[in-house]
Amino acid sequence: MPALNDVLTARLAAFSPDRRRVLMTSQPLAGGRAAVDGKVYQHFCGNDYLGLSHDIRLIEAAQNACNSGSGAGASRLVTGNHAGYEGLEVALAKHSGHATALVFSSGYAATVGTIAALMGKGDLILADKLAHACMIDGAMLSGATLKRFAHNDMGHAEALLQRYRRQYQSTLIITEHIFSMDGDAAPLDALVKLKNTYDTWLMVDDAHGISVTDYPHKNSVDIWCGTLSKALASVGGYVCGSAALRDYLIQHARSLIFSTALPPAALAAAHTALEVVKAEPWRGAQALLHAQRFAQALDLPQPHAAIVPLILGENARALEASAALKMQGYLVSAIRPPTVPKGAARLRFTFSAAHSDDQVNGVIAATKKWVKP
Ligand SMILES: *Cc1c(COP(=O)(O)O)cnc(C)c1O
Repeated sequence: MPALNDVLTARLAAFSPDRRRVLMTSQPLAGGRAAVDGKVYQHFCGNDYLGLSHDIRLIEAAQNACNSGSGAGASRLVTGNHAGYEGLEVALAKHSGHATALVFSSGYAATVGTIAALMGKGDLILADKLAHACMIDGAMLSGATLKRFAHNDMGHAEALLQRYRRQYQSTLIITEHIFSMDGDAAPLDALVKLKNTYDTWLMVDDAHGISVTDYPHKNSVDIWCGTLSKALASVGGYVCGSAALRDYLIQHARSLIFSTALPPAALAAAHTALEVVKAEPWRGAQALLHAQRFAQALDLPQPHAAIVPLILGENARALEASAALKMQGYLVSAIRPPTVPKGAARLRFTFSAAHSDDQVNGVIAATKKWVKP
């Protein structure tokens, strides 16, 4: 058998250079900036939409919580179920309009664990073509049959339901609320109607919507999930739904059962973030306004959230644009396949309540030359 390193070196060599990913060390800073290699940049590719990652209230809450330990020390089902979970879960349930919430160690773990626990062989999962990798991974792990409908295409989703619904026991439709790489919104009213007509369940991942673009009828969606690690500036994921859903997941979600609980500091920061968000709705509105102003200035489609893609096509062009912006002091990452479809490499701009109008004006000016006339 060839040595492991030889096999891996050969596989890496087969990867074209413009698809190769590298990790860079970076330090997000207050005021919508980040430091890389000792240089400070204007940061337009993070997920700190509400500008809470350096908020003193979150930091102090996390520091105080550290007095009850740096880590949880065990899974939630053993002795890791710190008192901080309860208040956070009550607040998340309330925010979603659902009866309960259950917090996992990440958004990825929440989604994968929930889908795999609920669905199985003989069941059908219908996923939006652009649904996040964690939903697809959960579907594959579940053993259910997975079919994809064209992005936000309700006609296609309905055609699949007409054709296949009766051949399966349970059916789950999965999608994102705000699509992470495109910034557009799923037609949730239409999906709720579809799920009622065809007797399916509906699960929506709200990783990028919370408090920037809130869906008013979250409790008409069976499973409303999201992350504590983006707008809420902490770490963790959550699933909101009925009391029976929560109880069932505690019995069956393997990513909850077989993984250590979150540190108290993470729970405290997330809970404080939810309180701040409730008291300061201007934060989400500010991030959205920045994104809309950027899109308008560059003649791009109006965004539904704080994410604006500039689709450039080839990987090399996206990398070139990202490098040029970096030279001018702007951090904007090039997003390439397999994160986005082939030929749709892009710059993904994200906006934050922490950005000033001047910062947004600057990135508009620097980006103009990359927009096709
Ligand atoms: C980031 C993201 C996740 C994963 O959440 P983490 O807390 O980072 O694991 C899940 N779904 C979507 C749509 C995301 O963008």
